[in-house]
Order: sequence, then C-alpha cells, then structure tokens
Amino acid sequence: MQLEQISGIGPKMLENLAKLGINSLEELITYYPYKYLVLRPNSIYSLENGGVLVGKIDSIARVVYIKKNLNYLTFRVNSNNNLVKIIIFNRAFLKSKLKIGSDITLIGKYDKQKNTFTASDIRFYKLTKTLIEPKYHLNSGIKNNNFLKIINNALVQNFDLVDYIPVYLSKTYNFLDKKNAVKIMHKPLTSASLKQAKLRLIYEELFVFTFKINYLKFKNTINSSSLKRDIDCEQIKSFIDQLPFALTSDQTTAVEEIINDFNSKKRMNRLILGDVGSGKTIVAFIALYANYLNSYQAAMMAPTEILAKQHYEAINNIFSNYNIKTALLIGSLTKKEKVKIKSDILNNKIDILIGTHAILSEDLEFKNLGLVITDEQHRFGVNQRSCLQNKGQKPDVLYMSATPIPRTYALSLYGDMDTSLIKTKPKGRKSVKTIVKKNAEIKDVLHQVLEQLKMGHQIYIVAPTIDQNSNELENVNQLKEKFNKAFNNIVKIGVLHGKQKPSLKEQIMLDFKNKKYNILISTTVIEVGIDVENATMIIIFNAERFGLATLHQLRGRVGRNSFDSFCYLISDQNPERLKVLESSNDGFYISEQDFKLRGEGDLFGTLQSGDMNFKIANLQRDYKILIQAKKDSLEFLKNNIESNFKNEKIYSNIISKMDLID
Ligand code: ADP
Ligand code: MG
Repeated sequence: MQLEQISGIGPKMLENLAKLGINSLEELITYYPYKYLVLRPNSIYSLENGGVLVGKIDSIARVVYIKKNLNYLTFRVNSNNNLVKIIIFNRAFLKSKLKIGSDITLIGKYDKQKNTFTASDIRFYKLTKTLIEPKYHLNSGIKNNNFLKIINNALVQNFDLVDYIPVYLSKTYNFLDKKNAVKIMHKPLTSASLKQAKLRLIYEELFVFTFKINYLKFKNTINSSSLKRDIDCEQIKSFIDQLPFALTSDQTTAVEEIINDFNSKKRMNRLILGDVGSGKTIVAFIALYANYLNSYQAAMMAPTEILAKQHYEAINNIFSNYNIKTALLIGSLTKKEKVKIKSDILNNKIDILIGTHAILSEDLEFKNLGLVITDEQHRFGVNQRSCLQNKGQKPDVLYMSATPIPRTYALSLYGDMDTSLIKTKPKGRKSVKTIVKKNAEIKDVLHQVLEQLKMGHQIYIVAPTIDQNSNELENVNQLKEKFNKAFNNIVKIGVLHGKQKPSLKEQIMLDFKNKKYNILISTTVIEVGIDVENATMIIIFNAERFGLATLHQLRGRVGRNSFDSFCYLISDQNPERLKVLESSNDGFYISEQDFKLRGEGDLFGTLQSGDMNFKIANLQRDYKILIQAKKDSLEFLKNNIESNFKNEKIYSNIISKMDLID
C-alpha cells in the first residue's frame, strides 16, 4: 500500500511526511509520539497547579490586542454553575468558533483570587472521561491533529508488520502482539495499556540491536584468522620519535595495545575511547603507519565531509616525508574523479583512503585492505559496522569515540570490541575557562564577545531550540535577532540547526571555518570533532537544559589553539550542577558527576544522535530492558547458530545481510 492511497495524504502532505523521514506506510505507523497529554476532567477548585476546565461558553468572546504579535481572547465559561473568566493568548482566529452555549474543554491554570483561568489549549467538546492525546514531533507543514487523522486512517488499513521477537520470548513475557501495540501507541485508552505497548516495542528494538552486536562478536571469534603482519617496532619507534611532541602515557599504552592486536592471531576490533582533545587521532595515525609498513592498504572514515577533509589534510601533513599515497573520496567529487580513485585503489596505487561513511555504499574494491579506522564511532550503526568489516579480506578494525562513558555502559554498547582508554590529556593544553552566568548578567558576556570579535576571533552560540516560542527557552532564530540588534547588524552571523539538510549544514560549518561568519548560532548539532582554531568562545543559553557530558563536548569546540578560550554557561537555575564544569575539564570525571547528580546523566543524549537512531528505545532510560534483551538475544543466538537460523527466517535474513559483501 502506497502512502498517497491513504485518505488525507495529498502531494503536499507527502512532501511534508518525507521531510520527517516517512516514506512508507510502515514508517508512518511506527512514527511514534514523543509524549502524551493526559486530560482528566477536574473541578476548577483543584486547578491552581494546572489542569482541565470543562463547561459551557457563557459570553461572546472578545479579542484584546496588546501589541504586534500579542493578543488574547477572553470570554466567560460556566463550569458547574461557577462563572469563570477565560484568557487565552494569541488565538484571535478562534473567535468565530466560540458560540454561547456550546461545550468547551480548556487546559491551563486557574487563579482563584482573580477567578481567571489562563488557557494554553482548547478543545471544542465536553471532556467526560480521561483522554490520552499523543503528541508528535512534526514540522510546520503538519499539525498534530492532522497527523493523528492520517495515522488513524492508516491504522484501519490492512497492513503487515514484521515482528522481530521470537515467539517463545513473546510467550514468556506475555507481550502484546505487535500490531496491537502499535495501535495503542497512537490511540491509548489507558496508561496501563500504553505502558505495555511501549515495553514490548522497546524490547523488540533492543533485542534486534543486541542480537546484531552479539552476532558480530561471535563472528569475530570464529573469523579470527588474522592478517599476516611482521611489525618492525624500531621503525615505529623512530616514527614516534620524530613527532613534534612526546606521547602521553595513555597514548603509548593504546599504541602498544594496537601493536599487540596486530601481532596476535585474532583480528583487531578495538575502540579508542578518549575525551575531546585527548589525542586519539595521532594514535590512529601510528596504526596507519604500522599498517603501511606491512604493505597493506587502509581506509579511514569520518561521519561528515568536513571531518574527512580535516583528517585528509592532517594525514598528508604527518606523512609528508614518507612515500605514502593518500586519496580523499567524498560525495562532492565528479564521477570521473571517483572512477579514477576507485581504479587506483583496486590497483594498489593508493595506500590510505579517507572518506565519509559513504565509502561503504560505494562499489569499492581494495587490492589488499589491512586496516579500517572509523572516527566518532558511535555515529555509525551496527549494520554499518559489520558492512565495513566485510569490505576487505579480513581487515583489522579500529574505532575512535570522544564520548566518555562508564565501563558498564561501554560493555553493553561495544560488547563486541576491546577498548583502549585515553584519560590523560597532552601536557600544556590550556583549559577552556568556564563561567556560569545568570541571564541578568548578559551584558558582561556581551562585553567579552566584543573583545573576542575585536581580536578577530570567532564565537559559537548554542540554544536549546530552533524556533519554538516560549518564555523559558532561548531559540536560535530569536538569538540571531537579539545579537544583530546588540551589534548593530555589523557582525556576520550564521545559523545552524538539525532541521537543515546535511549538505546545507556542512556548507554553513565550512563557511564558519573559513571565517565567513563571526558568530555561529546553533542548536547542539555543531559537529563533534570539528576544528575551527580561530573560535575562542562558546556561549550556551539555558545551560540547565543540557547534561554535563553534552556541555563538556560542546565546550570542546573551543580551546583548540594557543589563545585563551572561554565558555559561558547562561542559566538562572541549578548553578551547583553547572559549577562542576567550572572546576573540571575531565570528561570522565564530569560524566561520573552527572551520573551522581542526575541519577543517570545524559551520556546517551550524544550517543543517540547518530545512526543508532532508535524509534522508541532510549539506551539510558531503558538500560534494564537493554540488559535483559541482550541476555535473551545471546541465548537465542546460541540456540540457533548451528542450524543457521533455519527456523527463524527473519534472523537468517538479518545475518545474511550482515554477512554480505564478503
Ligand atoms: P581528539 O582526541 O579529540 O581527536 P586530537 O587527536 O585532535 O584529539 O588532538 C588534539 C590536539 O592535540 C592535536 O592538535 C594534536 O596534534 C595534539 N596532541 C596530540 N597528542 C599530543 C601530545 N602527546 N602532546 C602534545 N600535543 C598532542
Ligand atoms: Mg578527533
């Protein structure tokens, strides 16, 4: 069944849905609400902390204009024979719908003294029992109500959904059947059934996810026939000696672990975990060099073109005195250029290929691939991980990630890998001076901004939302206006956020790097790992909204040069928590503190932004389910691997996809 066959979906809607990543019926009905509004009919006297008021309209509605873009509707409602004054902001357009005598339900707050109910939302019916309304993340082209209608139209169609939970486990846990669970997600009747539906869908996602990890690990243990290598430690040592700096002890250990992996009979499958700026890259480059000495080719991948280019330049730089041939394969090359690179790779004329993960989808063939390195590994999905490993004969694989996560979490996420931790930072690195400020002190901050701009430096500004109207939160577009005003429009300001196309985001980031903007205002999407050496200040608004680990990663965007760098955290709330950042620059310590202070921390906020995209699961919130699913999927794997999943069709498909390209 095609999407456009569903009533309510015309060409325009089709386009809007595509923007949300919805291109099929299945994608539509598995586009789950991000929250639910629970409406219970209350009496007005219990409404002071917010609630629902039900009654009949008792007077003609009047619109009061306060200023441009600010008006309110006001009218009287009779609720259980109490007359209450209603105020509702910026809904002048509803005036004609408000007829005396008709039923109405209002959501908002009651002020007893003024006998006034300030409504934030309105329904043109009488609420008689508890209702649960799903809320979806949508774009400006689709209203929540419209979307619900479309979903409802879709749900009555005859559709099939693949259920990935093995039958015996569904029975053990007494899970709802999948179709039913999906329906409940969009039309919950009770909180209890909603909970059951969620649990089942979360478990399913995590089961498949952990199954894949378990399978990769299993494959690594059986496919351990490794490449023939003869490591010349002297040559590697002299390479390290000619670097402009001495390695830190953690870097040295990581290098040793890699060399051991190279020498061992097992294929290397290693993750380097280290804070931003801890010097993971040089460790990776040493691995590239060792691999080159063994006459193997290598591929190095980054999540974006900018980062790939950055690595390409750094590699050419570090190997400038060596006869190592490199190439950069990225989407923006012409077809001809790509063809040339591909044939060079096949003919062993290239030693190191650098690119984005698009390399994976290219029909690339290496002559003798020995090593694959992936930067910011958490942004690659498990599928990609395996696809990568299958590109060459049996290459050694090295991943790098800057997300400091506690060991237990690392084990369940990266259970199929060995890890090297880089905890210490290179000596002499200046830490970013971090200062927590209240909104009332913003003038001080603006002074500092001006100082930095005068020196020709650049500045990042981060806000929690893009354009959401709210009194409590700053948004990107509003901040742009404010800064333009503060600096008389003479400062060049770029805007970056998650709703832009990836190509546009990259362009804006690149323009910032090339100094076309003095200030870049953005949501948290600023590229992890991007090097804009000239940026010396980052200002984060509503800092209380972010976890400490996220703030620390954002802060890592500055201080990448010899200048003094600054991070301002603007917040009127919870300064104690933010002060951890004033006093520490250690990502591991910070993420531990976040765990203590918030119970769990936000480690997975950053982790999940990437390809690991779950539809419903949240690794942090659903950690217990993750552990159970992992245990179950391992048992399932063990019971079926010998028969090659003969009786589990879905899973035999999954593993054959993972085995592909061998
Ligand atoms: P990340 O771990 O975030 O990838 P990088 O590898 O980019 O960190 O390293 C950050 C900076 O530190 C680079 O400019 C790099 O050259 C430098 N660096 C790395 N190791 C050392 C060291 N042992 N001593 C001094 N500087 C170093
Ligand atoms: Mg890096």
